[in-house]
Amino acid sequence: MSTTKQKLFVRALFDYDPNQDPSIPCKDAALTFKRGDVLQIVSMEDDTWWQACHLEDSNGGAGLIPSKELHERRVALQRPKALFQPQRVNPCVSLPAGLRRSFRLGRKSSWAKEAARFRRWSAGVHSSICPPTYIEVIPYHREPKDRHRVVILVGPSGVGVNELKRRLLISDPDRYGVTVPHTTREKKRQESEGVDYHFVSVHMFEELILSHRLIEYGSYRGHYYGTSLDSVHRVMAEGKVCLLDVHPSKIKRVYTSEFKPYVVFVKPPRIEELRLTRRRAKFVCDEEDINQVRIFSVRKNTHSPAIAW
Ligand code: 5GP
Repeated sequence: MSTTKQKLFVRALFDYDPNQDPSIPCKDAALTFKRGDVLQIVSMEDDTWWQACHLEDSNGGAGLIPSKELHERRVALQRPKALFQPQRVNPCVSLPAGLRRSFRLGRKSSWAKEAARFRRWSAGVHSSICPPTYIEVIPYHREPKDRHRVVILVGPSGVGVNELKRRLLISDPDRYGVTVPHTTREKKRQESEGVDYHFVSVHMFEELILSHRLIEYGSYRGHYYGTSLDSVHRVMAEGKVCLLDVHPSKIKRVYTSEFKPYVVFVKPPRIEELRLTRRRAKFVCDEEDINQVRIFSVRKNTHSPAIAW
């Protein structure tokens, strides 16, 4: 029997009605669910049909549900191929190699191992574009009461997110906190270590990258900049809500049961409004900000799996 610690809960990101599914092995043994339902996964031993029960009905018995792989494969077959990256057309790539191999060989790995692999996989190791299937969640009653969830602000930094962050910090500095980034550039005279940045050597920064301790990083004018997982932990340890500003492609990295982030989309002003403001007050934004707004405005209606809920 699995212990509470080993239980895996997921939120379904699609509707499933076994009566509409001709390939279900046994309709009576299947589970009906709607997008948004929270399911407890009971078994993932089969690569096409998992067993699960509804969270609020865990005594009602488990039923068959399509596995993540099966649903992805079905969606891939329904969609025009051009919409997919080439590797997504091959349904075999949707499981990590280790999991695929153990399923193919009929080898039974322990439940805890499979659940851990699923967690790692859904937390971002598998980063290519996937159709929405299931996403791991943790029931609220298991969350320590004093721990705040991380808030991710997504939007163009120059004109929306930075200003929002600044105002939140001023409005309630005891409640909100921000991470201190790492950089390899020289410290300026007015800056302090651990306040403005953690100033580290290139070697140390590369070690942080290799040990996967950075949520995101990039280079600017020949220097590395990045945000570490430890810096998020530090803000949380102070009992504050950590405000993070990460690119949509990096959300999955932070989408863990530990951080349980709320993702807030900051709607940018329209480009015409920005241009107008810029003409009146030169300091409000520059061409780079306008470019960011343009990128986000285009992305607004596109599907991103990490933020589909
Ligand atoms: P500065 O060296 O003037 O403090 O920062 C220059 C630029 O570095 C910023 O405008 C921003 O683009 C980038 N930067 C600062 N902090 C971070 C960070 O945590 N991650 C990334 N990717 N870039 C950062």
